[in-house]
Amino acid sequence: MKLEKYRDQIYSCLRCAFCFDQEQGEGQKICPPYATYGLESYGARGKLTIARALIDKEIEYDKDVAERIFACTECEACQEQCFKYLPLTEIYAAMKEDLAERNVLPAGLSDVLEQVDEFGNPYKQSAEKRLAWLRNRERVDQKADVLFFVGCTTAYLRRGIARSSYQVLDKLGIDFTILGNEQCCGHPYIAAGKMDQAKETASTNLESISRLGIKTVVFACPGCLRTFKEDMPRLLGEPLPFETMHLTEFITEELAKHPAKLKKLSRVVTYHDPCNLGRHMEIYEPPRELIEMIPGIRLVEMPRNRDNSFCCGNGGFVRYDYEDMSVESELDRFSEAEATGADAVVSACPACQSGLLDAKSKAGSKVEVLDILELLAKALQDE
Ligand code: SF4
Ligand code: SF4
Repeated sequence: MKLEKYRDQIYSCLRCAFCFDQEQGEGQKICPPYATYGLESYGARGKLTIARALIDKEIEYDKDVAERIFACTECEACQEQCFKYLPLTEIYAAMKEDLAERNVLPAGLSDVLEQVDEFGNPYKQSAEKRLAWLRNRERVDQKADVLFFVGCTTAYLRRGIARSSYQVLDKLGIDFTILGNEQCCGHPYIAAGKMDQAKETASTNLESISRLGIKTVVFACPGCLRTFKEDMPRLLGEPLPFETMHLTEFITEELAKHPAKLKKLSRVVTYHDPCNLGRHMEIYEPPRELIEMIPGIRLVEMPRNRDNSFCCGNGGFVRYDYEDMSVESELDRFSEAEATGADAVVSACPACQSGLLDAKSKAGSKVEVLDILELLAKALQDE
């Protein structure tokens, strides 16, 4: 049992409730599943109580345990607040691995995995369509210093982010390429605890990237970045032979070295911190610096921001099994963004953009939902 490794940490939980039963902003709960379902077993303390009962052999892994453990957007709000600094997301990951080993996975997530197995992406799309957003293929599979790893959600569902990322890198004169045979980064396998399949995918991507002599891989998707940065070295047992960066970090550095002319955009925007980018990788300031570099833009913060940000409800592939939780969370977050008076909510993640766009349409709102790359591409357009 993978969970056994965390016996001491699980036993040291104080049952203090800092991780789930507290309120932020205007009295909202910090944990999406606890906020939606209202039962302690969906929050961190409840998940640890389940973990302890499993270790003590009072219960066994079954579909009821799976229902609680997979109801988690991996937002890390609980870990941020834990009074004992317990590695909560690692403990949940160990439980997912144990559940995957026993083949007890939620139905929606199982379907996602089947699609990744068959199509190389979670959206049942052909490999040929992966680069359908690209106007010409002159940059594909070229030797270059920088690789833009597009990722499934950006390539198939949020093509505006893919095109904008390309335009921004091109405008800044970056020597970059794109893989012609890019595979899913493996994040869905990791979210389901299927580490062998995640390792296989990691090796395939690593092989393709290594052929091109890449020094830095850049990402628009924080989920892909987290998979490369945190999971791949652990899965492959060695450090990656290149640097990995989110595009907001990379572009902030590039603009500091080679300032570019940014067009004035008279707008008031608010910024939603993606959990994978913020709490997981502590990238809070580069997106804000980039927004504030654009002349004419005013950035207004939501009450819950940076490490206190609230999840949009679309992490960890939960939408396929817990749609009510995803919708409730995205509406909660979108209404917080709307209340700032901003005319656009900007994020830096294709999955967050999908959730926020769904909330916008459900709320019938005029507030625009933009990715930060889309905003930058507008600012870099010729007058
Ligand atoms: S990671 Fe987020 S969703 Fe999961 S238990 Fe912690 S606070 Fe709740
Ligand atoms: S905050 Fe940490 S120590 Fe306190 S109940 Fe939650 S998991 Fe346990």
